[in-house]
Amino acid sequence: MKILLLGLLFLTPAYSYKFLCNGITAEGETESDTCGACTDATGPRWLNQKVSYNISTKQIPTGISVSDWVSLVKSSFASWTEVPGVLLTMTYGSEGARSFGEDEKSQDVSWVNGEAEWMDKVGAAPNGILGVTLPSYKCPQEAAANYRVIDDADMILNNVPSAGFTWSQSCSMLTEKCQSIRGTMTHEMGHFLGLGHPFASGQAIMSAQASFLIDYPLFDDQQGLVALYPAASAPVAMGGKCIVDGDCLSGLTCHAQDQIKYCSSNIGTCSNHMVLVNNGFCEYPSGALLGAVKLHEDCSQSVCDTDLICVGVAASTEYCFAECTPNKTSCGPLETCHQLHDSKHQPINSYACMQEVKEGEKCGNIITCQTGLTCTVGVCVVTPKQNLTEASFSSPSPSSNPENSSCSSVKTPGEIWLLLCLMGILIHRPKKKC
Ligand SMILES: [Zn+2]
Repeated sequence: MKILLLGLLFLTPAYSYKFLCNGITAEGETESDTCGACTDATGPRWLNQKVSYNISTKQIPTGISVSDWVSLVKSSFASWTEVPGVLLTMTYGSEGARSFGEDEKSQDVSWVNGEAEWMDKVGAAPNGILGVTLPSYKCPQEAAANYRVIDDADMILNNVPSAGFTWSQSCSMLTEKCQSIRGTMTHEMGHFLGLGHPFASGQAIMSAQASFLIDYPLFDDQQGLVALYPAASAPVAMGGKCIVDGDCLSGLTCHAQDQIKYCSSNIGTCSNHMVLVNNGFCEYPSGALLGAVKLHEDCSQSVCDTDLICVGVAASTEYCFAECTPNKTSCGPLETCHQLHDSKHQPINSYACMQEVKEGEKCGNIITCQTGLTCTVGVCVVTPKQNLTEASFSSPSPSSNPENSSCSSVKTPGEIWLLLCLMGILIHRPKKKC
């Protein structure tokens, strides 16, 4: 039995929800606290599966009406409370006091358009940060439960003009000109409810860096919330986790997509923000549907699909390659598992399947030269002696990470406060160099 469970865990490495107490920051560090183990049973959550919140209608972006804004907040919260298998009651209160970590009785959702107010609340410049959530919780030892209990959470979205964001209710394509209120808010609400960042980049709304195309919780996000606020067991609705058909509501089947299994249908309409795909089933949107680009496609303006890595092969040209592990034969027949370098030509612990060609052969785009050679005007030539590294791969990193790239901070023990930011599309993911 134990071996079977281990096998199942091993099959699903790409999906790994986290909580506030063990989330992974954009820098790849893991959050921790002094409350002991951080598990499904002990992770931070609101007491008795109930929480109320207020919405400030001040300082909202131009083009968004007050009623649009209020209904966006309510429907974004609903996209969490409606997750199959979740029992969580969220109650709207009133206009709210725009508190941010000051009033424990009031959970406030607000916009901030003044730079001074932003600096005062966040303690960091507004550039590159879309939204910030400040949840606090108590350890089980000090709380009225055997889990960490969240006692306050406030959320602000960034409408400071100097940050240069162009907000829309929702964005359909990956672009630096459109920031999705729904996507940003749904991410921040995940923190509000106790979720952390699962990994620095990936197909989950709780990822630390925005791809903006994810406007709703996906499978991994949903399973994180189910762990914190489980409903009594019942037949599983569309998109909920299952093992066999009998787990699902009648009319649904237990459908497999990549490494996950969930209840779906190939006869009706889709719900839970799922989409009808070519095989006739309702599925969670793939990376491609969310705007990610495929193998060997240009990733200079987009993110690569799952299991691919964006590699800068020459100045201003970047393509998606398959990630690989050295000594494993996972690459194609003409490819080798090539160790990547940073922008200073230092080798890094990252590898991609790439086709490497010999001296005098054609190179460029997705074809690179063997070590010791340089791609010059489309042909591999011996690298000049004074520069032993891959001289042509010298484009500067396009990453425009501001100094204040992490908003994550743990304050006084006893009461744990976490300042959690969602980074914007203006901060490109650092590209790996060839
Ligand atoms: Zn976040």
